[in-house]
Amino acid sequence: MATAHDASRVRARDLIGLEKSEITGVHRLLDYLRYDDQGRLRVYGHDAQELLDQAGAPLIWYFGDRVRENYRSIDDAYRAHFPGHRTFAAIKSCYLKECLTVLHRAGAGAEVMSALELQIAQQIGFAPADIVSNGVGRSEEYADATVAAGVGLTVVDCLDDLRTVAAACRRHGSRARIGLRVTPPVDHDGIYITPSSKLGVDWEGGEFLRLARAALDTPEVQVVALHAHQVTHCSQPAKYRATLAGVAAVARETERELGLRFEVIDIGGGLETRFLLHRSGLGPEDFAAIAKEELDSIGYPFRLHIEPGRYLTADAAVGLTAVTTEKHNGDRTYLVTEIGSNVLIDMAEVTYHPLPTRLPDPGTPWTAYDVGDSTCAPALVCRTAT
Ligand SMILES: *Cc1c(COP(=O)(O)O)cnc(C)c1O
Repeated sequence: MATAHDASRVRARDLIGLEKSEITGVHRLLDYLRYDDQGRLRVYGHDAQELLDQAGAPLIWYFGDRVRENYRSIDDAYRAHFPGHRTFAAIKSCYLKECLTVLHRAGAGAEVMSALELQIAQQIGFAPADIVSNGVGRSEEYADATVAAGVGLTVVDCLDDLRTVAAACRRHGSRARIGLRVTPPVDHDGIYITPSSKLGVDWEGGEFLRLARAALDTPEVQVVALHAHQVTHCSQPAKYRATLAGVAAVARETERELGLRFEVIDIGGGLETRFLLHRSGLGPEDFAAIAKEELDSIGYPFRLHIEPGRYLTADAAVGLTAVTTEKHNGDRTYLVTEIGSNVLIDMAEVTYHPLPTRLPDPGTPWTAYDVGDSTCAPALVCRTAT
């Protein structure tokens, strides 16, 4: 634990804000933000400072339009290469009813991890056939709920979960369409899910083939999908390519060993926030093209599933906050804000990019600040924001 904690603190020191030119030209990164002629920040055309004054409190404002555009951009990109492909929104990235409703109306399916998430998805109106159920250490309650609902795909993560799902099928007199979650054989350096992890079943060592054989011998289930959710914050095409080459190898080997062809290949989520990809000159088209090149080597037709979460929702909100204090200490200057780790998830390698509601007057020098809330956790929203 100590090591992981220290590592995250070291990384947290590198949370650098946007460059000066990125701030003044922020509309090039996120088209709903723009500084007007007077240097005032406008959010979807509204004056940010006025909104903050009117709301009278810090606020986090979500944009359904951005959620919809994010969904369309990734769905279109993969559809261009994979006819009949489906995008399932990983609902853990945002439980807000309005955001999920936008995704549902736009045509997304839902990816859920628990009985609670299944319930949320059903309340929004996602049809059971449009729901993918994931999760490890599946409870009887969760298995019963997915089988009773008749979800389109249940992904099994280990032998025990296979037994739990089969037992729920016997209780309900039905047969579940299942996927098998694999950790493919790739050079895992810097990749989120490594072999022997809690999630997924290793290809290496034969663990995956043992699970597949057991599933084929279980009459209550029908094996339809290969599932691999391997990356997170992925903005490196080479890593994405390596992962998908591994997925394709698993599919080919499984056909050779067991004569099993998958109807669906589900490559999970894991792409970086859309505007950060854009900042690196990348878009979902680049990743979809890689998926096409690598998965073509499977050599038989299948339907593709993707399960983006962060990509859909992470840049679809802004937080508006006042600065309560400007504090100088040693060689650093801090802006203390009302919004921080009290409401934003505090994660290693995640920075929330501060923007002033008003640009400095032309000719006035800019200052660099560290921005954080008033809680006693390390709680820096951003280090060195201009
Ligand atoms: C979290 C998760 C996703 C979405 O991941 P993002 O990095 O938010 O895109 C997709 N599938 C599974 C199984 C997950 O656990």
